[in-house]
Amino acid sequence: MESQQEYPQQFSFEFFPPKTPEGAEKLAKVRDSLGALNPKYFSVTFGAGGSTQQGTFDTVKSIQQAGFNAAPHLSCVGSTKENISEILASYKVQGINRIVALRGDMPSGTHDIGEFRYANELVEFIRSETNDHFHIEVAAYPEFHPQASSAEDDLNNFKRKVEAGANSAITQYFFNPDAYFRFVDDCEDLNLKVPVVPGIMPITNYTQLARFSDMCGAEIPRWIRKRLESYGDDKESIKAFGEDVVSEMCQQLLEAGAPGLHFYTMNITAPTLAIWKNLGL
Ligand code: FAD
Repeated sequence: MESQQEYPQQFSFEFFPPKTPEGAEKLAKVRDSLGALNPKYFSVTFGAGGSTQQGTFDTVKSIQQAGFNAAPHLSCVGSTKENISEILASYKVQGINRIVALRGDMPSGTHDIGEFRYANELVEFIRSETNDHFHIEVAAYPEFHPQASSAEDDLNNFKRKVEAGANSAITQYFFNPDAYFRFVDDCEDLNLKVPVVPGIMPITNYTQLARFSDMCGAEIPRWIRKRLESYGDDKESIKAFGEDVVSEMCQQLLEAGAPGLHFYTMNITAPTLAIWKNLGL
């Protein structure tokens, strides 16, 4: 963990593009209340394959118009270089200077993977097109990406992204801080000098979390699963327990020198704000 302690701590919040005007109105309120916490930036996810891309552009604009820094996610799978180049140019004009660069996942039923195979190729392309204009964040997987051929390969693939020019990383969420500590130690051994900010998922809905965690390869430890299962439909108990567990983990991460936290807010204020307050940030 030593190298991580050198970086200043930074806090950021992630949104997904709302699908309706009502969703956008609601998100504006969430943005303003979380904005009062003075985050480094708000990031906005980007759907591979096209469906939510306009939503990303619109959400990013509204964040900027409200006076905050926005960091759009940009996934490359299924895209052409021309397409990515146009998006980068328009972000540059718009005054965006931070991008979360990802491969993304092909929407089911689509087969044309496009001109990029992996995120390291996107990072390289962004650097070649725009030099040092963008601060590039990439994804990191302390519990390993579900498609990785091995833990070692996954680490080496993370290294490719850093060597291609990534400035920092945000992790997939996890509930095992040891996985994160080991991951940053491994990065140190590989001589990777970038901050690796833990991605934090507040626990609010067990069924949804379990489904999502299976898909993205994040482990919910047995003791957490069993407790959450035992609450059944008792949402209040799930929230209270989740808040407790996640706040404690965040505290442990920050005390050990994690360079900040990135919250997967799920477009709601309360769960993130509760953790924030518990941490006394
Ligand atoms: P990569 O780094 O390309 O890795 C993908 C897999 O390929 C890994 O198993 C890796 O080991 C392997 N690999 C990588 N490079 C090589 C190589 N050169 N040769 C062989 N194998 C290689 N998805 C979205 O669609 N939109 C979003 O907005 C979004 N935001 C995210 C934000 C964060 C912080 C995180 C952690 C994930 C996000 N995702 C998003 C999900 C992400 O797109 C998926 O996890 C996707 O499957 C992998 O993307 P990546 O950028 O990590 O891919």
